[in-house]
Amino acid sequence: MYSAGMTTICVRSPADGSLVGEVSTSSSEEIHARVARASAAAEKWRRTPLRERARAMRRLRTEVLKARSRIAELIAREQGKPLLEAYLAEVFPCIDHLTFLILDGPRILAPRRARHAQPFLAARKAHYVFQPYGVWALISPWNYPFVIPFLQAATLVFAGNGVVVKPSPFTPLSGALVKDLFQAAGFPEGLVEVVHGGAVEGEALVRSNGIRAVLFTGGPEGGRKVLAAAADGLKKVVLELGGKDAALVLDDAPLERAAKGIAWAAMFNAGQTCASVERVLVEKPASARFKELLAAEVSALRVGHPLQAGVDIGPLTAAFQLERVKAQVDAARKGGARISAGGETRHDLGPLYYAPTVVEEPPGGSTLLREETFGPVVAVQTVDSLDSAVRAANDAEYGLTTSIWTRDKRRARALIPEIQCGVVTVNSHLASYGEPRSAWGGFGPSGFGRTHGEFGLLEAAQVQYVDEGYSEKHDLWWYPATERVRDIVERTFELIADPSAVSRARALLKLLPHSAYLARRAPTVRMLPAFLRYFR
Ligand code: NAD
Repeated sequence: MYSAGMTTICVRSPADGSLVGEVSTSSSEEIHARVARASAAAEKWRRTPLRERARAMRRLRTEVLKARSRIAELIAREQGKPLLEAYLAEVFPCIDHLTFLILDGPRILAPRRARHAQPFLAARKAHYVFQPYGVWALISPWNYPFVIPFLQAATLVFAGNGVVVKPSPFTPLSGALVKDLFQAAGFPEGLVEVVHGGAVEGEALVRSNGIRAVLFTGGPEGGRKVLAAAADGLKKVVLELGGKDAALVLDDAPLERAAKGIAWAAMFNAGQTCASVERVLVEKPASARFKELLAAEVSALRVGHPLQAGVDIGPLTAAFQLERVKAQVDAARKGGARISAGGETRHDLGPLYYAPTVVEEPPGGSTLLREETFGPVVAVQTVDSLDSAVRAANDAEYGLTTSIWTRDKRRARALIPEIQCGVVTVNSHLASYGEPRSAWGGFGPSGFGRTHGEFGLLEAAQVQYVDEGYSEKHDLWWYPATERVRDIVERTFELIADPSAVSRARALLKLLPHSAYLARRAPTVRMLPAFLRYFR
């Protein structure tokens, strides 16, 4: 287990306490040296053509596929999710994401034409270019210790950047695999680096001179500090923070399917997922049946060692996490909530196990409803109306994802615009993270910026606008400021301002004496289509 100030981090399996491995905490000199190596590599890499970057990503995909069992087993041992979950949630999304970068990336980051809309600029040509930032600090949490830094590093590198990853000190070995795989795939030495440690080392990395941008995934407290540290150097920051996701179960929902889907999305990775269902808001007519189905689903889950076959739920990853879960459930129970499944530790299995738990009708204002639980616990609240369901869903400190469960597309579509979060799913929850073309990220305190798909790839690049023209004409607005130019501008305003045909004709007549002059100073023929936009 990690605590601040350690020089060696000893990683022990949360399932059985066995030693998984060790890493040394990075000194500030080492952090600066790794950033410098990444900067030197990125300076060359940024000139690599997109097609070549795509070919490198194809080699990386081959390496991930070759190493898939090693990756999944290390995650299961180091972090505690069952092996199947490690395949599904940590390896598969990387393959899909690389395929997306290989096939769609070159098109998304290729220079794009921009059409001029300003009449007097109409003879010029413009396009957008997507330039890398340089080196990113990529700071990651422990709950998805491989997929998060890997997928994010691949996106940043595809966009031409270098990356220094700082994995969570609770799961440094899975994070370190990211660098190994990039190296095995033949990416330039130093382009993807890794440093180890906790908040102190993370902050030193963010403050390091060579870092130009930061992608932080973690809790709101760390996010706030990273933002402040990055502010000194005016560095770009993307924050992927916590969640308190709600699932809205409407009275016409297919209840059995909803109970199964919600049990999965609440308990996956022992509930240690930013977008876990932590709260269910169920309409009154469906409430009793839904609660019964959910309690049955959750009670049937098999808890055990993550490497054992047929295990649904592993241990929690860290002792502080278990304490948080226990405290929230115990407080809700004391406040009068009914525990219809679980509600206790499973020390018979090991020190960090907690039984999958359903808490029905916790008292309003309880921490279980307000703070991120991040454990195998789901709270169910009955609501009288959809309005109160939406109010309750939005009444959280977070805005990551929300799901709606219904058979009625019209009811779902009517609710969606009322929901304040980054991802809304209908009759599904959480799985959209696995879609490489989705947009992943939150509203409000769940962070800003996106990490997946086209928006995620564009987030990794700086937009450069290129405006070109090779005409010999002097532009109309250049010095000296003459009465004639002022008259042209005033007549132009008249032409736009009054929509009646008579006044437009009058304004045009007043412009006529300037036509020879305009022909010398402005792209008159090309101006016309742009000018017509004013009359729409
Ligand atoms: P955390 O904030 O404690 O740590 C995350 C990372 O930030 C770690 O590497 C940590 O060492 C580092 N860190 C912490 N304080 C820092 C500081 N002041 N400066 C620099 N680095 C610092 O979070 P955690 O406990 O590892 O992860 C759980 C949290 O992450 C939950 O809130 C969860 O919802 C969130 N999360 C969000 C997403 C998402 O996509 N939105 C995904 C996974 C996890």
